[in-house]
Amino acid sequence: MRHATTTPMAAMTRKGALALTLLTTALASSAAAAQNRQDDAGLPTIEDRTASMEAMDGFLPMYWDDAGGRIWLEIAQWDTDVLHASGIGAGLGSNDIGIDRGQLAGSRVVRFHRVGPKVLMIQPNYRFRASSDNAAERKAVEDAFAPSTLWGFDAAARTGDRVLIDFTPFLLQDIAGFAGRLRPGTYRLDQSRSAVYLPMTMNFPENTEMEASLTFVRQDGGMAGGRFGGGGGGAFEGVGNVAANAGSATVRMHHSFIQLPELGEYTPRAHDSRSGYGGMSFQDYSAALDEPMTRRFIRRHRLEKRDPTAPMSEPVEPLVYYLDPGTPEPVRSALLDGARWWNQAFEAAGFIDAFRVEIRPEDVSSHDVRYNVINWVHRSTRGWSTGGSITDPRTGEILKGNVTLGSLRVRQDYMIAEGLLAPYENGDEDAQDISEWALARIRQLSAHEVGHTLGLGHNY
Ligand SMILES: [Zn+2]
Repeated sequence: MRHATTTPMAAMTRKGALALTLLTTALASSAAAAQNRQDDAGLPTIEDRTASMEAMDGFLPMYWDDAGGRIWLEIAQWDTDVLHASGIGAGLGSNDIGIDRGQLAGSRVVRFHRVGPKVLMIQPNYRFRASSDNAAERKAVEDAFAPSTLWGFDAAARTGDRVLIDFTPFLLQDIAGFAGRLRPGTYRLDQSRSAVYLPMTMNFPENTEMEASLTFVRQDGGMAGGRFGGGGGGAFEGVGNVAANAGSATVRMHHSFIQLPELGEYTPRAHDSRSGYGGMSFQDYSAALDEPMTRRFIRRHRLEKRDPTAPMSEPVEPLVYYLDPGTPEPVRSALLDGARWWNQAFEAAGFIDAFRVEIRPEDVSSHDVRYNVINWVHRSTRGWSTGGSITDPRTGEILKGNVTLGSLRVRQDYMIAEGLLAPYENGDEDAQDISEWALARIRQLSAHEVGHTLGLGHNY
């Protein structure tokens, strides 16, 4: 579902177009100066450099360079907070190693910063803040604790303030440290067997989605079998137990770049440990002397009543959760039922039809940050189900709920019920009760994990 090829002009973002308009009118002299610098650096214009590429317009304009097998990004928003989130597009299948399809692999605020021909991707440090109005006080805290520069890019082309960078090396890195987790044996990421994965590389006005297939190769050189051909011995499920070939395992890493909400649009809610919510925290160096420096906000979705004065109101925007279309019946209906129970809680809070659960359309990536998802995830042995989220680290606002439900759970529940009830006399009985028992249990599992993605912890 990539966007269709567009001309370079059409490929510009709104902000890019605005920047160009400013350059060509009010700032004509600066434009001339920029043109000179550009010539000094010997850089082509973005339009020239990308002429033979497929433009994918969106939040961060992308270009697919088929001849080179590379993804190029046009950066026009400098020193602006953007959220970068990564997650696993296709997994390994081993619960013990834990590289599961649909799993989140971390998120962070980043800013693109340009120094001459160099573009730096910098993670600002939101762990230590000053809430003061005094800019110097804020700067004193900002410069006291290190930010992290995550990557450096070289400008390959430039038009005015817009810069083109080759983003492929960033996509083809082992960002989540998979190599160190694969065993038995020693695995390394092999660039020659890794590539951009185009079917899940797409662009939207507020989010840019990219994916790469990464191949990890066992370092003893064997293709299969041999000393490390199988698992790790005992019950451990190693690479050789799950990958097609123990010599190499190919998984996919997804990357999202997301426009963050404007600060001030969402009001953080203070965390109280009695509330049952999970929280995020930071140190506030502007706290009054008699106040704690540790400030805590709960994680929650933004949900507003269309009519704030009405006891019951429809929401401005409902919360929609998408269930994995790869879930078979009768499990599918059970998971929909369990997740939908949450609508009762939202009704009790005064919302009409604010919480909905639907089947995810097949052309929507489960990693697309605009959607809350419930993934039905297979592994070779039974493992955890989890409820996580991508959160704005500045405010605690949940941007995406992400549920992983392990598919073998219901089969184990079935076997537990069968063992406990043993409803057989002749061996030809219809054991429908057992299925119903197992399905009742995963309705609860669905509700439970969705609850975590609404920001709730366990009530113990
Ligand atoms: Zn739980």
